[in-house]
Amino acid sequence: MIAFEKLSAPTRLFINGDYQDAADGARFDNINPATGQSLGTVARGTAADVDRAVAAARAAFESDAWAGMAAGDRERLLHRLADLIEHNAEALAALETYDTGKPFGDARKVDLPMSVQTLHYYAGWPSKLRGETVPVRGPFLTYTLREPIGVIGQIVPWNFPLFMAVMKLAPALAAGNTVVLKPAEQTPLTALYLGNLLNEAGFPPGVVNIVSGFGGEAGEALINHPDVDKVAFTGSTRTGQHIMRQAAGTLKRVSLELGGKSPHIIFGDADLKSAMRAIGAAIFYNQGEVCIAGSRLFVEKPLYEQALEAASQSAARMKVGDPFAEDTRIGALVSEQHWKRVDEYVKLGVSEGARVVAGGGPAEVAGGGYFYQPTVLAGVRNDMRVAQEEIFGPVLSVIPFEDEADVLALANDTQFGLAAGMWTQNLGRAHRVARAIKAGTVYINAYGIMDPAAPFGGYKMSGLGRENGEEGIAMYTEVKTVWTGLK
Ligand code: NAD
Repeated sequence: MIAFEKLSAPTRLFINGDYQDAADGARFDNINPATGQSLGTVARGTAADVDRAVAAARAAFESDAWAGMAAGDRERLLHRLADLIEHNAEALAALETYDTGKPFGDARKVDLPMSVQTLHYYAGWPSKLRGETVPVRGPFLTYTLREPIGVIGQIVPWNFPLFMAVMKLAPALAAGNTVVLKPAEQTPLTALYLGNLLNEAGFPPGVVNIVSGFGGEAGEALINHPDVDKVAFTGSTRTGQHIMRQAAGTLKRVSLELGGKSPHIIFGDADLKSAMRAIGAAIFYNQGEVCIAGSRLFVEKPLYEQALEAASQSAARMKVGDPFAEDTRIGALVSEQHWKRVDEYVKLGVSEGARVVAGGGPAEVAGGGYFYQPTVLAGVRNDMRVAQEEIFGPVLSVIPFEDEADVLALANDTQFGLAAGMWTQNLGRAHRVARAIKAGTVYINAYGIMDPAAPFGGYKMSGLGRENGEEGIAMYTEVKTVWTGLK
């Protein structure tokens, strides 16, 4: 375990290539959720700081220092940034653990490699982004250009702070945009750390600016700023709706990756060993603080008791505790507020008629902190609030179903549409159900995998647009059509 003080984490705003204090000098306490103690203070950016950051991003965009750089050189810088993140992986994973409460092993083995892979993937794109010639009627040569949009405001959540930041930065930068990034107030440290790495890699000043602060202050300033051309957001559906409303004033481009309540379906004809094994990881990974968590487990009736047993055993096996301990599978929830909210949902479930078959309350861990037991609720009906609202914690609702038609209706009976998973050995059924489910990602005999090459995003109230893959970079471009008369 690396001592926090040894990590020398930057705690000031990163604007125009320099670390700076907030204009009014304000700072806020940054809490380690595994202890409830402060890790120290971090600069609290407000509208004046967002103004400075947007001005720096605008100047960097208009100077053509970034978009005008040869594609091959931009690629080299993005690869270099990926290498620097890899080189600093131990420190970044430790910072992520102190800030989020997640197990260090997960940060080191998942968050960090995913961040590095995403940067390498998009580093390949600048030289491949191209327009087309268009076969129009008449004597014209008509072609399209894919241009960067301009200054992008990016707002990210606290569940995978570095990975979410990189998932936003990489395609935006690959397409030639400049960025003002606002990390979540609960978890500002790994994003701020990127400032030094961006400088070391050789990014021109102003291409990436990082403003830590609160949603209602720095976040509001960013989404309302007239000189921001697009807002890209990951977080709650409620904030996403608010952003979309605010963006209407200047018609900012908006992309949103929001909440989920993903159905995870076990059919009677599944490979039961694999299916039963998958239940726990699909909901409990990262303390359930995962937008694609398989939080509604639908089980074909004859298997219901067996699935409940497998879910409970998985919950009992997962060690909750010190995020730096090697055998810890479940760390702390991100904040006291969130921890209380998760507990309120479990109590609500019970008052709605659900039965707790595993967990069901806070977990006692030496040293304090906001730990919660992996929890399994039986007797849940799909219309209960615990099955309809995103809990974003280690809480699984298990619901029996009759047949394929029944489960399809239940799975789609939700305002969300981020992901879905199913276990079946019937190929026809698998692809039939995959088509019928209204979700941006469907897993067949697998759950929860992501890859920078595979588009990711939500149907319905789970979002707007797709991140990752070619779709993910297209979202950061404008298409210009150029007509030339040939006569
Ligand atoms: P949130 O949407 O409030 O916060 C996410 C980000 O948005 C943070 O950076 C925050 O500072 C910023 N933000 C908040 N209000 C803003 C505003 N008015 N203008 C601009 N930016 C603003 O989410 P939360 O309160 O941290 O979490 C609440 C719930 O949201 C969670 O319990 C969970 O259900 C959901 N959530 C989903 C995801 C996801 O990946 N889909 C991630 C985090 C949270």
